[in-house]
Amino acid sequence: MSFFRTAILTTLATSIAAPVLADEVNVYSYRQPELLQPLMDAFTEETGVQVNVAFLNKGMVERLKAEGKRSPADLVFTVDISRLSAVVNAGLTQPVDSEEMNSNVPADFRDPDNHWFGLTTRARIVYASVDRVNPDDITTYEDLADPKWKGRICTRSGTHPYMVALTAAHLHHHGEDATLDWLQGIKANLARKPQGNDRAQVKAIWAGECDISLGNTYYMGKMLANDEQKEWAASANILFPTFENGGTHVNISGVALTKSAPNKDNAIKLMEFLTSPAAQEIYAAANFEYPIAPGTEPIDLVKSWGDFEADAVNLMDIAALRPDALRLTEVADFDG
Ligand code: FE
Repeated sequence: MSFFRTAILTTLATSIAAPVLADEVNVYSYRQPELLQPLMDAFTEETGVQVNVAFLNKGMVERLKAEGKRSPADLVFTVDISRLSAVVNAGLTQPVDSEEMNSNVPADFRDPDNHWFGLTTRARIVYASVDRVNPDDITTYEDLADPKWKGRICTRSGTHPYMVALTAAHLHHHGEDATLDWLQGIKANLARKPQGNDRAQVKAIWAGECDISLGNTYYMGKMLANDEQKEWAASANILFPTFENGGTHVNISGVALTKSAPNKDNAIKLMEFLTSPAAQEIYAAANFEYPIAPGTEPIDLVKSWGDFEADAVNLMDIAALRPDALRLTEVADFDG
């Protein structure tokens, strides 16, 4: 923590205006408190505004609905466009018109109506056995359905939001029939029924159960930082597939202002602080993600995994295609 703290204070000290009246901002977060706290502390240090973070496991939409106008929440933090758009679609947010945020957050990574803003991205990529897979053998997501991978792929459930978003991206590029074929092709290549989380698939590569898996980039960093999981990480390379005629699938973590925000001015101040390039870099570093403001860079470890071109599809399109993607996943009986 002290590393982040020092970094924040030295990086941001010059860019933040003078302190204002002591006040507060209330945050509901699906993100782990330890990812948020260093930046919240820096914000408090600079502005005198106290930030109270309530960590939620689930039920954010239901809770905000139940609390209605009396909700103490000003901001919601979450990962995945599906969760951000769920809060927006439930009518629980309000737009934020901020020139600063519009210039810090590229258009692909914010709501065209300004109801949500991305803070970091992560790519959904292939983990491939260092020993058993030639990196040139898998360059596209479409390749995953090639019979050459028969019995060699591991994955988590096809109904998990990370997988549904990837399938929605395939649907965007190729349409229904091709997407159903793709899902069935991957299913036919699986070494075992979908199970476990992204890291469990890399463990299976390490154990020799399969040769490639799908996972988010930051799990490589998390495994390397874990004594037991270090070996799993060392057994796999990160490969950045693209869609044919497209780029690498990315998703975001982001923030939205609630409709009933009791501390709106301070909440917007916190949003502007968090979308600033320096804060994005620190926030991204905490979870081995990519900052998105122009000119920002991830940490060296993340950079060492390689460069990629993010798929240009707008994330709102991905969110809109989710129900169809989920239905196709069920038609393919992907998890069965
Ligand atoms: Fe995750």
